[in-house]
Amino acid sequence: MIQSPVKYISTRGACAPQSFADAVLTGLAPDGGLFVPENIPSFSADEIASWRGLSYEELAFQVMSPFVEGDIPAAALKKIISAAYSDFRHRAIAPLVQSGHNEWVLELFHGPTLAFKDFALQVLGHWLDYLLEQRQQKVVIMGATSGDTGSAAIEGCRRCKNIDIFILHPHQRVSEVQRRQMTTVVGSNIHNIAVEGNFDDCQNMVKASFGDQSFLPEGRQLVAVNSINWARIMAQIVYYFWAALSVGAPQRPVSFSVPTGNFGDIFAGYLAKKMGLPIERLVIATNANDILHRCISGNDHSKKDLIHSLSPSMDIMVSSNFERLLFDLYQRDGESIQHLMDTFSSTGKFELDKAALDNARGLFASYRVDDEQTLKTIRDEYEVSEYLLDPHSAIGLAAGRACRVNAANPMICLATAHPAKFPDAVRQAGYPHNPALPEHMAGLFDKEERFAVQPNDLAAVQKFIAANISA
Ligand SMILES: *Cc1c(COP(=O)(O)O)cnc(C)c1O
Repeated sequence: MIQSPVKYISTRGACAPQSFADAVLTGLAPDGGLFVPENIPSFSADEIASWRGLSYEELAFQVMSPFVEGDIPAAALKKIISAAYSDFRHRAIAPLVQSGHNEWVLELFHGPTLAFKDFALQVLGHWLDYLLEQRQQKVVIMGATSGDTGSAAIEGCRRCKNIDIFILHPHQRVSEVQRRQMTTVVGSNIHNIAVEGNFDDCQNMVKASFGDQSFLPEGRQLVAVNSINWARIMAQIVYYFWAALSVGAPQRPVSFSVPTGNFGDIFAGYLAKKMGLPIERLVIATNANDILHRCISGNDHSKKDLIHSLSPSMDIMVSSNFERLLFDLYQRDGESIQHLMDTFSSTGKFELDKAALDNARGLFASYRVDDEQTLKTIRDEYEVSEYLLDPHSAIGLAAGRACRVNAANPMICLATAHPAKFPDAVRQAGYPHNPALPEHMAGLFDKEERFAVQPNDLAAVQKFIAANISA
């Protein structure tokens, strides 16, 4: 294992290395790039093998500590991890369910909001709490959500007294379960804003606000909770180790299939591989919004119109975290990345050079699953084994099967949401009723909702935020 504390550098190469705390509290690097570790800690096969008997929390400590050393002492990290996973409703935290010969579904939906985003946002909330307490600082979280991120961020940060949290969602355009998961959480520091616009409008307001934070009171700054925040990626590395160890790594290689939107989740898998986990293949599973699949399969990284699919949490035009991979594909040369990004913003597309493309194809396979195949996968799986998949997880499983190369090695497909979050898709697949919410959420439809409807107007939204920040 590498010793000295990991520093964080920007993918655009134009800012000084930062500590974990600064990288987490800033979100985006000052030069517009994304933070990545300057050195990736790595572990030997023996070291990894010695973790086989550890609980999820113990393993999380092993995997994450080198990344936060210097900023979070071991004892504090242990406490944070144990608090973060205490609200999960499964003893294994991330249980594996066998779905076929040497094929497994990794259930990442036992957290408080029933999607994998809880894995990172629960820890992020506690990290922020710890760092802000140390610094005697208060911050404002502002984020846009089309569904899962908002509720997971609210759940993760609701107990943090140094954080005011404002989540924008498009008014009347998120599912009822998703909206209620955000709007029924009670807390004077939690504010839901329903913007009379679409998700892009919300996201543009957040981007503009990060760019010019002068609407905030003196001494406050915005913190990002979307997957550009390095801490989110980091926390997700753990379950790759966890699942792989459970099925025989490091003695045998394993593959993963990952339902992908912004490339945050699968980038964590890529890092696990760099840290020494023997991963044979990482399958990028996309829905009809397939920019990544087009890029890997045909070197076509071009922006197309958004398609509203049955897997809304993967409906993206551009995958923000792909830049983190590009940085490695281009030998960590920030100037090349700046150039690619400039090309992309002026022309809406770029091509990878041959070396980068070959490199990417050695690491990743990709597969596109449209709505029809998503529904078929849900239906088939239920018919064969009475196992009910949510539409995102169905895409992971379908792609994992399509990209299987070696039946002797396990294929692990990530299940990123609970089917009860997406009742419409599940019913469309032929399931006869709305899948039941877990018992602990049964009261969701009776609770009072709190949100403020605001016009699609940046100044109005910023005024609302400024007026509601705690003293
Ligand atoms: C966010 C999300 C994804 C996509 O994850 P990325 O890290 O953006 O690739 C997939 N499935 C579900 C259910 C999600 O909430």
